[in-house]
Amino acid sequence: MLDAQSTLLAELIKRSPMGIVVCDPSGVLRIVNDKARQLLPMVPQPEGRLAKDTLPIPRLLEVLSVVDDSSIEEDLYIGSKILKIRSVSMGEHGRLAILEDVSTLYKAEDHRREFVANVSHELRTPATSIAGYADLLLNAGIELSTEARDMVRVIHRNALRLNSLFSDLLTLSKIEAQSVNMPKEDLELYPIAVECMDKQRQRAEKRGILFQLMVPKDLKVHANRDAMIHIVGNLIENAVKYNREDGLVTIRAELRSAPPKVLFEVIDLGVGMAPSHLERIFERFFRVDKGRSRNVGGTGLGLSIVKRLVDRMDAQIEVRSRVDRGSIFRLWLDPADPFAAVPEESGIETKKW
Ligand code: ADP
Repeated sequence: MLDAQSTLLAELIKRSPMGIVVCDPSGVLRIVNDKARQLLPMVPQPEGRLAKDTLPIPRLLEVLSVVDDSSIEEDLYIGSKILKIRSVSMGEHGRLAILEDVSTLYKAEDHRREFVANVSHELRTPATSIAGYADLLLNAGIELSTEARDMVRVIHRNALRLNSLFSDLLTLSKIEAQSVNMPKEDLELYPIAVECMDKQRQRAEKRGILFQLMVPKDLKVHANRDAMIHIVGNLIENAVKYNREDGLVTIRAELRSAPPKVLFEVIDLGVGMAPSHLERIFERFFRVDKGRSRNVGGTGLGLSIVKRLVDRMDAQIEVRSRVDRGSIFRLWLDPADPFAAVPEESGIETKKW
C-alpha cells in the first residue's frame, strides 16, 4: 500500500507540468523533477549535490536557503525566459520551490496592452475632431434649429466621453507597461492641491460646491510629480462629481510620525458608497451607479488608474464612506527626505560603514 503510494507520488513529481525543486536545510538538492531540469540551467544529475554547486542562479539559491516560514512569490528572469517561483517552507525537510514558465503569458499580456494603447491612440484623434466640430457648431454663431442644437449637444457630449475613455485607456496601458517603479523627488503638496482644485473650480461653482484647503505650505512628500497630479486631480474631481448641491470638499494633509508618513485626505459630503461597493471601486470600469457616472462624464477608469499609480510609488490608499454622508479618500505618502535640503558644507557629519 505504502509502496503504491510512493510510486504514485514519485510519478506525480516526475510528470508535473511545473518545475519542482526541494532543497534540504543543509543546502543539498533532494528533488529536482524533469520540468525543473528543462527550465533551469543546471548540471545533469543535481539530486544529492549542493545547490550552490549545481544551480548557477543566485536568486534561486537565496530563495531555497530561506529558513523561516515565509512564502515567497516572484518572477525570475533567466535570459529570455521569465519563471514564476513560488516557494514555501517544508519545515525540517527544507524548502520547496515550484517553477512555472510564464514567458508566453507575459508576452501575450504585453501584446494586449500594446494593442489597447494603439487602438486608444488611434480612436482619440477622430473623437477629438468630432468634439471640436460639434463645439464649433454650437458656439460659432451658426444658426441651428432647437432640434438640431439639441442633437449637436448630444454629439458633443458623447464625443467628449469617448475622448476621456480613450485617454484613460491609454494612460492605464502606459502605466501597466512600465516595469520599474516611478522616479520620485521631493515635492510641495500645496501647489499640487491648488492646481488640481483650480481645474475643478468651474464644475464646483456651477453646483455651489465650496473647497476648503488645509495643506501646510511647507509640507513636502517624496513622490512622482506626474503621478501625484493625476492622483490628487482624480480624487478632487470625484469629490466634486459625486458631491451634493452646495456641498463641501475638504483637502487636508499632515505629517504623522512613527512611522513618518504624510497623510493626504480628500473629503466630500456627497452621495457616499455602500461597503459592498467600496471593495470594488478600484476595479476597471466599476461604477456604483452607471447612469450617474455617465451623466457626470465618468469612465469608470479613474480610480483604477489612481490605484496603479499609488502602487507604483509604494504609497497606500484607503477609503471610508457612508451612503448619503460622503467619502474620505486617504493617501499615505513618504515624507520628503529630511536631509535633502541640507547643503553639503553644512557641518552635518556623514559616516559610512
Ligand atoms: P468614474 O469615471 O465613473 O468617476 P472612477 O474610477 O473615478 O470612475 O470611480 C469609480 C466609481 O466609484 C464611480 O463611478 C463612483 O460610483 C464611485 N466613486 C468614486 N469616487 C467617489 C466619491 N468621492 N463619492 C462617491 N462615489 C465615488
